Amino acid sequence: MEQFELQMKLKLKSHFFDIMDTEDGLLNDDQLMKAMLETIKELTGALDVSFLDTSIIEKKMPSIVPFSISELSRLSKVYKQLVPEFEEYDLMLLLIHKDCLLGGILLKGIEGSFSDEFFDMLSEESARFLYKARQLVKTISEEKRYKQLYRVTEKFHSSMNIDDVLGEIIYTLQEVYPSFIYYLLLSHDNNKLGDLPIKDLEYDSENIAAMQAYVTGTSQFEDSIQEKKSILYTPLKGKQGVYGVLQVIAPNSLVFPNNEVEFITLLANTAGTALENAQLYQQSKRLITDLQLINETSHRLNSNLRLTETMTFITEQIIHSFDAEEVGFILFSKDYKEIKILKGSTDFFQQKDAELYINYTKGKVEKEKESLFIGDFNLQDSLTRIQYKSIMAVPMTQSGVLKGIALVMHQQPYHFTFETFKLLQSLVHHSTLAFTNSMLREELEKMVVTDHLTKLYSRSYLDEKIHLSMNKDQEGTFMMIDIDNFKLINDTFGHQVGDDVIIQVADLINANIRGSDIGARWGGEELAIYLPGVSLNAGIIIAERLVRRVSECTKPQVTISCGVSHWNKGCHDSYPALFKRADRALYMAKQSGKNKVVVQK
Ligand code: GH3
Ligand code: MG
Ligand code: MG
Repeated sequence: MEQFELQMKLKLKSHFFDIMDTEDGLLNDDQLMKAMLETIKELTGALDVSFLDTSIIEKKMPSIVPFSISELSRLSKVYKQLVPEFEEYDLMLLLIHKDCLLGGILLKGIEGSFSDEFFDMLSEESARFLYKARQLVKTISEEKRYKQLYRVTEKFHSSMNIDDVLGEIIYTLQEVYPSFIYYLLLSHDNNKLGDLPIKDLEYDSENIAAMQAYVTGTSQFEDSIQEKKSILYTPLKGKQGVYGVLQVIAPNSLVFPNNEVEFITLLANTAGTALENAQLYQQSKRLITDLQLINETSHRLNSNLRLTETMTFITEQIIHSFDAEEVGFILFSKDYKEIKILKGSTDFFQQKDAELYINYTKGKVEKEKESLFIGDFNLQDSLTRIQYKSIMAVPMTQSGVLKGIALVMHQQPYHFTFETFKLLQSLVHHSTLAFTNSMLREELEKMVVTDHLTKLYSRSYLDEKIHLSMNKDQEGTFMMIDIDNFKLINDTFGHQVGDDVIIQVADLINANIRGSDIGARWGGEELAIYLPGVSLNAGIIIAERLVRRVSECTKPQVTISCGVSHWNKGCHDSYPALFKRADRALYMAKQSGKNKVVVQK
C-alpha cells in the first residue's frame, strides 16, 4: 500500500471506532450502515457508496454462492459480468468475516484511485466493523428487551386486573417492535376491554394456526407469500391452562424473524401466568361476594320473618345483586293445575301480561325439572310482543317435591351472565328452605287455633271470634259443655279411652253446628260452642239435640251438661258477662241432675 493509503487505513479505523463509541449509541442496523458508508465515502472521495444485502447478492448473483469464500474475496473483478444493473459502479467489495458473507459495498467514481491492497484492506476493515457493530447492536437491543421484560413482569405481578395485564402486553410489544401488528385472541368473553385489539378465538377454518396454538400450547407460524406477511401465534399460557393466543403479524417479511420469536414467546408466557393469577384473583373475589350474598340472605331468612317479609327480602336481594327488573315467586298447587303468586313478588306478576312468562316457564320446569336460562326469549306461535327477553327460572323444590318457581327477568336480551344464573340457583336453593319454613310456621300458627286432640278451635280463637261477633252481629248464643262424671270414665277405662270419649263428643259437636259456628275446647273435658247471629231459641234447640245425641252415640256412653247464654244488640252486654251466665247455667245443670240443658236466667 502507498503511504497515503496507510494513513487512510488509520483514519478509517479511528472513524469506525468513533461510530461505535458515540455517546447516544447507534442502536440499529440502518444507522450503523449509514455511518459506515458515509465514512467510506468521505475517505475515498467516491461519488456514491451503497450497501448490498447478503440476500440480494445471493439472489442477483447466484453464481457467487458456489464460490468458496477465498475465491470470493477477489470477486470485485467479476461482478460486472454478473450484474449488468450495477454497471454504473466501478467496484464491489464483498464483506467477509469469519467465513461469513455479511454483504457488499458498491463504490462509484473511484476507478484507478487506489491499489488492490487498499481495497482488500477496506473490505476487511469494513467487514470487521460491521460484524462488531452488529454484535453490539444485538447485545444492546437484547439488554433493552430483557429490561423491558423485567419491567413488564414486575408490572404484571403487581396487577390483579386482567385488562391491565392485557394492555401491558400490547404496549410492550408496540414499543419493542413498532412495525408489527398485534391481536389478542381470547377464548372467553371479554366484553368491556376498552380499545385493546382483541378478537374472539373461535373455531373457524380460517384460523387453524391460532386454534392449533391454543390447543397445543405451542407457537405456530403462518407465512403468507402472496400477502407478503408472516404471522406468529403464540399461546398465553399459565400453569392451569391456555388463556388465549397472541397474534403477531410481521408485514413485509416472508419468514417470521427467528430471534424475535424467543422474546415474544417469553413475554406471552409471562403474560399467561399473570393473566391466570389475575383471573384466579377476580374469580375468588367474585366467589367471596357470592358467598357473602348467600350467607347474608340465609342469615336474614332464618331470623323469623313473616312469609311476605321473607319473599320481599329475597326479591330485593335478587334485584340488587343481579340487576333484575322483575322477580316473581310462583307456587304450584299439588296437582300443578293452579298457581299462586307469592306476596313479595314484583307488581308485574299480578298483571295479565305475566301469564305468558309464568305459563311458559312453568311448563318447561315441570317437564324438565331443571332451571331455565333464556338469553333472548321468543315464542314462535305468539303474536304478543315479548317484553322481557332475558329470563331465568329456577325450580323451588323441597324434599324432592317441586313447590314452584322463582322467575327473574329483564327486558334487555342476554342481560344475565351464566355466573349470575348459577348464583341464582344457589340462592333459590338456599332460600326455598327458609321460605317453606316460613310457610310451615304460618301453617303451625293456624294449627294453634285448633286443639290438636279434638280438632276443635282453641279457646283463644273462640275468644277472638266472640269479640268480633259482639261488635258486628245482632245477637249470638253461647254454650258451655261439661262431660258428666268424666273422672269415672278415666278411672274405669283409662285415660286413653277418656281421650277418645272427648274426641267423640267433639265430633258430635262439629256434626251438629254449621261452618260459621265455632266449636271450641275450653280446657280438659270442658267444651264450648258459639253461634254467631243465632237466637236463644234456636240455640236451645241445638243444645238439646246435642245433649241427646251425646247420650245416644258415645261409646262407652257418657252424658253432658250444658249451660246456655245469649246476647243481643238491644241490651248492653259484655263477653265476661255472657260467659258468666253460661257458666252459672252449667253449674245449675250439674246441680239439678246432669245430662240436661239449663238456660241463663
Ligand atoms: P262432673 O263433671 O259431673 O262434675 O264430674 P267429673 O268427674 O267430670 O268432674 P270434673 O269435671 O271436675 O273432672 C274432670 C276430670 O276429667 C278431671 C280430669 O282427670 C279429667 N280430664 C280433664 N281433661 C282430660 C283429658 O284431656 N283427657 C282425659 N282422659 N281426662 C281429662
Ligand atoms: Mg269439668
Ligand atoms: Mg265433668
